[in-house]
Parts: sequence; structure tokens; C-alpha cells
Amino acid sequence: MEIKYVDAHSHPHFSAFDNDREEVIQNMQQSGVAAIAVGTGAKTSKQAVDIAQEHDFIWTCVGQHPTEHEEFDENFYKELLQNKKENKIVAIGECGLDLYRMEEEDKERQIKLFETQIQLAVEADLPLMLHIRSAQNSTNAHDLAFDILKRYKKEFPKLHLHMHFFTANTETAKKFLELDATFGIPGVVTFAKSVQEMVEFLPTDKILVESDAPYAAPIPKRGQRNEPSFIIYTLEKIAEVKKLDNDFMQMQVLENTMKTFNLNLSE
Ligand SMILES: [Zn+2]
Repeated sequence: MEIKYVDAHSHPHFSAFDNDREEVIQNMQQSGVAAIAVGTGAKTSKQAVDIAQEHDFIWTCVGQHPTEHEEFDENFYKELLQNKKENKIVAIGECGLDLYRMEEEDKERQIKLFETQIQLAVEADLPLMLHIRSAQNSTNAHDLAFDILKRYKKEFPKLHLHMHFFTANTETAKKFLELDATFGIPGVVTFAKSVQEMVEFLPTDKILVESDAPYAAPIPKRGQRNEPSFIIYTLEKIAEVKKLDNDFMQMQVLENTMKTFNLNLSE
């Protein structure tokens, strides 16, 4: 298939697709949508690796989500990373900090889990797929993540930071741009004015598009189960907000995504 779009973050291996996964994947093929399948723990990371083996337009990202409480099995991830190329692993994550439900006693655990995976990304020479979620009307997780990541970027300038599901404000975007981050824009941009304003500000060469399927479907599929092929609506909205031609935006985002995750489409 000719790849026109890459869904920079989705979970096609999740159980939400158990009944019609082949159909969902056919929809991707028909629309020219490739994807990065993202793990949130050991089990889903392995499933992500497996689904990437079955389809040449799916890559994978392995790691542990900050709210996933299982013990981080470093050896499991290191073994997967030993065959990083064969396993089609293009990033580490989704990892980061989630202080949406402020559990003060969980913060230290999250920081430790996060730093372990930052180290893993440095060793494997892979970008970070970052899940950073602050409490409502707060930037607490973003501020804390910024301080941690700034320290690592200083020591390891090559480490690339990709902000998954980025819906924070323009001020926060500015901070992470200082660290040369890229930003995964989800379907929320099709209905949230604040996200549209932030996207209007973002440099065009830092924008990637993601579904986070099965979650967070864009208009006109809002409220339904999301799937990777729906990123086309998200991309159209971004082009509209940026006052750019759809085709231009599609090409630009494709280029940004290939560069961010070092994808080789002809393989
Ligand atoms: Zn996700």
C-alpha cells in the first residue's frame, strides 16, 4: 500500500478491536494509513510487537504507562530491544507522568518508572513516546516532566522527545519546543477551541497526528470507538486551523513522522 498517513500513536492490538480487527486494518489499508502500535505495559507491549510482525505498515513502541502499576521488568524490555530492528520498535513508551488524579504518594513511583525508561531510550537510541497529563487547570505534570527531561537533554542532546496526545496550552508547548520536542495532535483538535489555538501557534514541522485509538475519536466520529483511519479528519482540521492546503499538510506531517521515528517506508 502507498502510505499517506502515519497514525503516530494507537492501540490496534487492544481488546476493543478483538471482534473486528481485520476490518479496522483493512480500513487503514484503504485509506493509506500506517500506524505505530503502542504498549502500556509488558503484555500490551508484546502484543504491539506481534501485530507489527503481521503488517508491514505497523511499527511499535514498547514501555509502561505511568498509571500502570505492574512492576517494571527491565529485562523483558531489554530483550525486546536486543532485536529492535526485527521487532520494529521505533520508540520507548508510552511513559511519563500522569497527575490527573493527584495521588501524592504515587508521584515518586511514577518519577522512578519514568527515569528508568528515559535511560532505556538513551541506551537503545530511540525517541521517547511521552504521556504527560496534568491535573485539571494545572500544569503540574508538565512542569515536573520538563525539569526531568531538560536535565536528560543536557546530558544526552540526541534524545528525542515526542509529546503524545498533546492538548496543553501554548505556554506549555513553548517550553517543550525549547527541548526540540514534537507534538502528537489527537482528534480533540476537531472540537476544542483551546487546542486549535495551540495548534495554530505550533511550527508546522513539529506537528504529528495520532488517533490514540480506541479512545478520543474526532468529529464526525465523536463518541464512537476510534480507529487509526479516522486520523484523516484530524489532519483536515489541522490544515484548516493552519490555513494550509490539505495535501501540503498531509505531506508535511508524513515527513515529520518519518523523521521523528526514523521510519523507512520502503522497507
Ligand atoms: Zn495511548
